[in-house]
Amino acid sequence: MTKSPRQRKLTGATYEISTGCGCVYVTCNDQDGQLFEVFAKLGKSGGCGSAIMEGLGRSISIGLRSGVDPADLVKTLQGIQCHRPPSCVDAVAKAVLEHVYSVEK
Ligand SMILES: [Zn+2]
Repeated sequence: MTKSPRQRKLTGATYEISTGCGCVYVTCNDQDGQLFEVFAKLGKSGGCGSAIMEGLGRSISIGLRSGVDPADLVKTLQGIQCHRPPSCVDAVAKAVLEHVYSVEK
């Protein structure tokens, strides 16, 4: 599958979602009307949690650019638990769900 090159300027939305791990900010940017990239940031910086959130966003983005269906990403990430519910990973799934399918959970 070919990866589309990123246009210089993309627009999207940033979702603030409170989780058991603190606030998670998930930015969903679109290109040509399709979700193109996701950035996930844990409110408190430093540590493995924020590194993993950043890596998760990058992995999602590379998947999207290679044609992965956002619905499959949501299904894969939904329900993953961490120390206190709702989980930070679930927050990423929620943001994608709301952004792409206008479903608020
Ligand atoms: Zn967490």
